[in-house]
Amino acid sequence: MPKKKITYSLIIVLFITALILAGIIFYSQSRKLKVVFLDVGQGDSILISRGSNQILIDGGVSGQKVLEKLGEYVPFWDRDIEILLATHPDADHITGLVAVMEKYEVGAVIDNGVASQSQVYAKFKETIENRKINEIEGRSGLRIKIGEDAEMEIVAPDGTQPKDNPKDTNASSIVSKLTYGENKFLFTGDISYDNEKVLVDSSRDIRADYLKVSHHGSKYATSQMFLDRVKPRAAIVSVGADNRYGHPSPDVIARLEENKIEVRRTDQEGDVEYNF
Ligand SMILES: [Zn+2]
Repeated sequence: MPKKKITYSLIIVLFITALILAGIIFYSQSRKLKVVFLDVGQGDSILISRGSNQILIDGGVSGQKVLEKLGEYVPFWDRDIEILLATHPDADHITGLVAVMEKYEVGAVIDNGVASQSQVYAKFKETIENRKINEIEGRSGLRIKIGEDAEMEIVAPDGTQPKDNPKDTNASSIVSKLTYGENKFLFTGDISYDNEKVLVDSSRDIRADYLKVSHHGSKYATSQMFLDRVKPRAAIVSVGADNRYGHPSPDVIARLEENKIEVRRTDQEGDVEYNF
């Protein structure tokens, strides 16, 4: 190859490399905040992403599905997920998290400290241990900064709930609130009426623009009393089409509509995405 051609090729390669690096730097420092309710079928998985920082709340019931979804929203060069938050140890929330821990470098796992007898829970705990991931018990008051001006706060449980009731793992679901400027999200795991009442009776500020509807729209949650306190303008139901639980309950959907709250569902529109 003549010398001139080699020089040209080198310049082009350097130029492309510089472009890719600039892209990575721009992306890593991006201030834009993205919240995506991933369509993982019957289960929950919510990605909060800002630049190269990611928090994943729950992982759905399929490792393959959640990894596919993360592949769409997390660029290939970003192999870290800073925090995995497991709201409670049910299979439709933690199964996918095992695969995420195996595939990504995970900074910390926040869970509710409630044990389950299930095999998937044993695998979840084993993976945390094998991968030497920090495990933090999520209690109300715990705050996580996402850059300078976005923050996630755990609002429940407060540590008073009994831990020895493996039959009702939903009750101790971690409820968290994300605040970014005027925009507030409330993520409720699979809590039910009783837990909603504890939150309503507390002095905690649970007002939010966007409400992750608890327990895939189960009839045992999303009470009028709770909606009066949260006052959301949109409600997101993470649910699989034709699931065997009959989620979401028609009563819950009707209540949301009566309150003039926009209803968005992963079974109808796929991923539900918000960008700020
Ligand atoms: Zn669930």
